[in-house]
Amino acid sequence: MALQKTEAVVLRMHKLGETSKILTLYSKEFGKIKVVAKGSRGLKSRFFGTLEPLNHVSIVYYDKENRDLQLLSQAEIINAHFRIRENLVKYAVGSFFCELIEKSQLSQPNKYLFRSLTQSLTILNDNDGREFIVYLGFMLKFLHLNGFRPHFDKCKKCGGAAFTNRTLFSIVDGSVSCEACNLTNSMSVTVTAETVRYLDQLQHTPLQNMLTLACPSPQSCETLLLSFMQYHIEETRNLKTIAFLKNIVNQNRNQAKNREQL
Ligand SMILES: [Zn+2]
Repeated sequence: MALQKTEAVVLRMHKLGETSKILTLYSKEFGKIKVVAKGSRGLKSRFFGTLEPLNHVSIVYYDKENRDLQLLSQAEIINAHFRIRENLVKYAVGSFFCELIEKSQLSQPNKYLFRSLTQSLTILNDNDGREFIVYLGFMLKFLHLNGFRPHFDKCKKCGGAAFTNRTLFSIVDGSVSCEACNLTNSMSVTVTAETVRYLDQLQHTPLQNMLTLACPSPQSCETLLLSFMQYHIEETRNLKTIAFLKNIVNQNRNQAKNREQL
């Protein structure tokens, strides 16, 4: 049995018996792991407040080969992302990141994906009113780091970049075609030139700078990225957090509309 040390993000937690927790973690060094934290519930626990979902932590655990559930020895908070928990939209987006990673990743590590996750959670925590952009930016990074990078820079057929508001994005091959070439199929969606340009810029911008870009149409960017991701990565279909996020966003929109009418 080896003692392992790594950074990790808590993706999911459930109770075990009267006093313990089982945690699903996404770790920097070992990918997705499951650990049991014995005696971790209750105010007097040495793990109190440390093992909440969305927390970025540093852990030490006992690793035994061929065992699904490892034993947690120590845990310390690196970033608790308190503000994500205090705001429903932030919480819905953060929970989406966690579910996306939990459903799609195995025990192989991916340090770039780990860094993208911790960076996105920090940006989500620190910036108000830009949650949807962080959501789109992380989804694009996630696609790229899982080998499904869509291309928005030039028309697949003619190589030109003179896009109009009748540009087509193909869900099947993740490329765009200009109005003149019009490479249509049953799985293509029409997007505006502005949206194509924005997604291209967002893809080429480091996460920490993504909020400097103005998003022309969050809804159509979301539809495009979600459809593309769910078509290519089976594990991302039926995520519970997508329905949750849509509910929260719609509620906020209706409240804003009601305020306008008053
Ligand atoms: Zn073309």
